[in-house]
Amino acid sequence: MKYCKKCLIPDTRPHIIFNEEGVCQACTNNDNKKLTDYEARFKELKVICDKYRRDDGYYDCIVAVSGGKDSHYITYTMKERLGMNPLLVCVTDPFTHTEIGTHNLNNLTKAFGCDLIVFDINKPTFKKATRIGFEELCEPLRFVEAAIYTVPFKISVAFNIPLVVFGENAAFEYGTSEEDNYSAKKFIEAGHSSAGEKLSKEIQDFWINRGLSKRDINAVILPSKEEMDRVKPEPIFLSYFTQWDDEINYLIAKRYGFKDLHHSWHREGTLESYGQIDSIAYFTHIWLKYPKFGFARATDIACRWIKKGKISREEGIKLVMKNDHRMDQRTLEDFNKFMGYSTREFWDIVEKFWNREIFIKINGIWRLKDPLWKLENEESYLSLPPHINLKEKEK
Ligand SMILES: [Zn+2]
Repeated sequence: MKYCKKCLIPDTRPHIIFNEEGVCQACTNNDNKKLTDYEARFKELKVICDKYRRDDGYYDCIVAVSGGKDSHYITYTMKERLGMNPLLVCVTDPFTHTEIGTHNLNNLTKAFGCDLIVFDINKPTFKKATRIGFEELCEPLRFVEAAIYTVPFKISVAFNIPLVVFGENAAFEYGTSEEDNYSAKKFIEAGHSSAGEKLSKEIQDFWINRGLSKRDINAVILPSKEEMDRVKPEPIFLSYFTQWDDEINYLIAKRYGFKDLHHSWHREGTLESYGQIDSIAYFTHIWLKYPKFGFARATDIACRWIKKGKISREEGIKLVMKNDHRMDQRTLEDFNKFMGYSTREFWDIVEKFWNREIFIKINGIWRLKDPLWKLENEESYLSLPPHINLKEKEK
């Protein structure tokens, strides 16, 4: 495994780009952001809004929301700062929702006076798709994550609202692309170019070949080309126009009544209490990249903090070492209860996904062969859990 020299992201992250100096594209993009004139970009956003702004009081944009801090920030920007009249669209998973997640989603409509459409994927389909995603790909929420980028277009077409606003451009923020632009058109092109038709067919075939019916998979199929041509959706990423910063989004969201998990659930494996907090089991999906790629949520958060200069790279390494390998007990219990797995069945399924190139199994525990941290005594690293080593070092 090769790690970025500036942050801690490994080259096992799918599609990540590294330059010759060993720096990842996310760090390079982050440096470029510091030179970006965001005032000018915000003016660009105003021009786009003016193009779609309506004076008859009808909705003039769709905002794709989850209820989280970013949803609050986007809604705040569109409604309070730009004076638009958004219709909010939320695709939810039917896992057990946290009380705070429910509060936050309600709060969005209350704090900003916006109407909200909640798109609930039906439980039987969700369960089937989640089972397939988990057992075949170690990616339980593949279906829901596709729906999050599909359903807003269905609403756009059905309600005749062309402007569709998404939050962050993940490809740019996380370094799988150097292209910094606002358009999210690739979601449409993925369904409607000639290559897209093939892809769209592949998506359908993937689920249908595994026992879902055409009736089940509506949530992941874009509207037809004719419908899209009629309304011409214009999907944009807000992160292009404003300096996208997790913690600023969080602080603004809090000002409008967003709540975090700080007082109710101290989650294992992460460093914050404000991200992905809507449902309990969702965090299982997030952790499951660890066996495949050797990093998880703590790495992602530590990388953000390093980029911002909030912590040093060395401090980040310690946090990753203590936290990344830890699957939160509550999220796991809720996932298993909902899906009907025993704990043992769960880990038996995960077992085949541990990436043998980067992990080694010692005394029944999978350990990274070449982690970020170097211990004085390699033997002790291989035989003890990382946090025990750390305590010894700190003594
Ligand atoms: Zn980096």
